[in-house]
Amino acid sequence: MNVIAPAKVAENDEQPFYQPHHKIYPQSVHGTFRRIKWFVLLVTLGIYYLTPFIRWDRGPGEPSQAVLIDFPHRRFYFFFIEIWPQEVYYITGLLILAALALFLMNAVAGRVWCGYLCPQTVWSDLFLLIERWTEGDRRERIKADGGPWTANLVARKTAKHFLWLMAAWWTGGAWVLYFADAPTLVHDLATFRAPPIAYIWIGILTFTTYSLAGYMREQVCLYMCPWPRIQAALTDEDAFNVSYRLDRGEPRMSVKKSIAARARGEAAGDCVDCHQCVVVCPTGVDIRDGPNLGCIQCGLCIDACDAIMARLDRPTRLIAYDTDINIRARMQGKPTITRIMRPRTVLYAGLIAVVGGLMLAGLLTRTVTSINVIHDRNPEYVLLSDGGVRNAYGIRVLNRRTTARRFAVAVAGLPGAALDVVGATKVDGRQVVEVGPDQTREVRAIVSVNGSAANSTPIRFVITDLADGSAASATDNFRGPGAS
Ligand code: SF4
Ligand code: SF4
Repeated sequence: MNVIAPAKVAENDEQPFYQPHHKIYPQSVHGTFRRIKWFVLLVTLGIYYLTPFIRWDRGPGEPSQAVLIDFPHRRFYFFFIEIWPQEVYYITGLLILAALALFLMNAVAGRVWCGYLCPQTVWSDLFLLIERWTEGDRRERIKADGGPWTANLVARKTAKHFLWLMAAWWTGGAWVLYFADAPTLVHDLATFRAPPIAYIWIGILTFTTYSLAGYMREQVCLYMCPWPRIQAALTDEDAFNVSYRLDRGEPRMSVKKSIAARARGEAAGDCVDCHQCVVVCPTGVDIRDGPNLGCIQCGLCIDACDAIMARLDRPTRLIAYDTDINIRARMQGKPTITRIMRPRTVLYAGLIAVVGGLMLAGLLTRTVTSINVIHDRNPEYVLLSDGGVRNAYGIRVLNRRTTARRFAVAVAGLPGAALDVVGATKVDGRQVVEVGPDQTREVRAIVSVNGSAANSTPIRFVITDLADGSAASATDNFRGPGAS
């Protein structure tokens, strides 16, 4: 085997195996897109932290938490929706919907998910906000990191890490609340009576949030997440992406030089090469270099550039959400066009409607009770000594509730039929079978009629819940002499 020594590799290769990490110090910025991002951050974090405390009355014996993943009872509750273990295909449907929504967002506005809604972006923004509160803005942080350790710096860094850990701990704490009654679990956690698995999960999520949002930040987007690569293959020239308007910006030069150049009648772009768009970028991208896998389309460089343009009394949106086709059109002096409705956007929207519609129809038409009936194959019927006919059936009753239920079993459609359910108890003359929570029970039913019976007569087995009167039924046939 030919093994190349590491020293040899370094000597022969022009590029190192790994990109050296350069810490990024994003500068704070104000503007339209920053405000949108703050709003999205508040809404998404609010939803995440508070949802477990929303109550939803489902009746006695049922959990009253609006969103709950109930592993012991094998249920997923989402407000009025209750998903049973047999319905795991709804989770598949939700994943398909999420993927289609991502594709649609991408077709309309590129990586808008990454820039505004992705948990990595939201938590990184929160952690960066804490960093600015405690250590100051970009310049102060760079200066502090390059200088000696002072008591003030130690205090600031301690405060930052303490607040980061608190935010990470709340994130892990909120996560476990989705798996049990939130107020009860909060009390149990505080009194150290919660199950060990809850503390383990809080620990895992505290660690991952702290390291991903505090330290790894843009590296998750650049190296760990597969979406930028997939997105690049899915996008097209009609999708809106954060773009530098070359036709306006170039040739870039300082304000002084541009004034002089324009006075001489020479071309001078609006970009003054101030690098403000670069220093505010959370992934360290210079958008003026063109499309970049590192760009999460957050729009912060637009805010930074708009502020510069406003100060220079030049039109804003030198950097803007724009389409490749329009950038080209502008450079060629052609009119621009915006095409939101394109085959791919219509296709994605249509698929979302179909999948969502099917899931909704399935949810609205399902029942918590069902019955299956199978006729005995051999013998199909038995002739009784008194001239009557008897048929036997296997009945399977399914109870999808989390409480035991009692069902009265009856037959309909066959005049004079007598029913005997093996193992049933008699209640007011009715044959009653009890089915445990979330269980299926199989019983044997004997149906007899006096006198002769036709070849095949349809009959219906009906089960009725003694508590609430809800019913389900299944049909089969009663066979008699002459049946083939
Ligand atoms: S280049 Fe602009 S839009 Fe892209 S990540 Fe950086 S700041 Fe956000
Ligand atoms: S902020 Fe605007 S003017 Fe400044 S370098 Fe970036 S594109 Fe040019």
